Amino acid sequence: MTMRQRHTLPALLCAAALSLSLAACGQDSEGGSKEDKKANDATVGIAMPTKSSERWIADGRNMVSSLKKAGYKTTLQYGEDDPDQQVSQIENMITQGVDALVIAAIDGRALGNVLQQAADADIPVISYDRLILGSPNVDYYASFDNEKVGRLQGDYILDKLGLADGSKKGPFSIELFAGSNDDNNTRYFFDGAMEVLQPYIDKKQLVVRSKQTRLNQITTLRWDGGTAQKRMDDLLTSSYAHSKVDAVLSPYDGISIGILSALKSDDYGSKSKPLPVVTGQDAELASVKSIIAGQQTMTVYKDTRALAKVAADMADAVLNGKKPEVNDTKTYDNGKKVVPAFLLKPVGVDKTNYTKELVDSGYYKQSQLD
Ligand code: BGC
Repeated sequence: MTMRQRHTLPALLCAAALSLSLAACGQDSEGGSKEDKKANDATVGIAMPTKSSERWIADGRNMVSSLKKAGYKTTLQYGEDDPDQQVSQIENMITQGVDALVIAAIDGRALGNVLQQAADADIPVISYDRLILGSPNVDYYASFDNEKVGRLQGDYILDKLGLADGSKKGPFSIELFAGSNDDNNTRYFFDGAMEVLQPYIDKKQLVVRSKQTRLNQITTLRWDGGTAQKRMDDLLTSSYAHSKVDAVLSPYDGISIGILSALKSDDYGSKSKPLPVVTGQDAELASVKSIIAGQQTMTVYKDTRALAKVAADMADAVLNGKKPEVNDTKTYDNGKKVVPAFLLKPVGVDKTNYTKELVDSGYYKQSQLD
């Protein structure tokens, strides 16, 4: 019996027995529907990648609260950036009999076997923010428009340097950083950014002095800030002994903070050596504070409350034999299937609009930023 059958069969039986007992199938004595009752019995397993980044802590918290509101029990586990640990956490959830899984993968390619176990147990799987690769057993994908994230970062650099409106011609120097090579999003962020930056590199208005422009030269395993700091240190030594870097494409706030540490150790941020434009992603508190202090230049805000709501709605729909709402059925091919997705809109945030986007929206309290 498939998951869907497992959940729709009682409804069919109820329909058949309608003439016998209305009370057992429709509204119960507490006023909840049969579906509500099922939600109350069902547990959703949530596998998150790491607590070392604030955004994933918020994602976990928001997933639990969205699912609770819909009447589900939850079990939430963090894999601490260790793919094997995440696999065993998911295995345990399957053994415990969860009814659905919501997974933000650490290594997008490492979950094929465990997802086969989930499929064998008729457990539907929602891929959360990061697409799970190489498995047919992924039902839906909830994320943001990941290429747009990269374009927002690239466009911001062009605007800030005065290249976009032609007020400056350059050449400006830029260095490129990318995320973890085991995360499917990494390529989308990079491709989005390069789509807008590459024409300026071709025209030599932007120059990558290190010559490290290929994705496999610029990735940052597990998005680690320390690794990025070390690479930035090396780049400054090898390529900027006699010149300044004007912009750094950074895909994630934790990486941006590492890059800024390396820059500050090299005297950037002083009067004679202004900090370059440094992008980011996730609107993590440390980075928003850094933006307010005039260090990091921008971040890409992705409302984790909205993402969790989308993923919770998907799980709820699948568990009730309904089709979740999707808005993209083409982009996210995981090598085995095109996974139907709902993609939210990312928003660029800098000093000029953080109050509107982050404080007025209730994402942060002003007091957290003071
Ligand atoms: C997410 C980003 C995040 C990065 C590092 C990516 O998969 O989409 O929002 O910055 O992982 O955690």
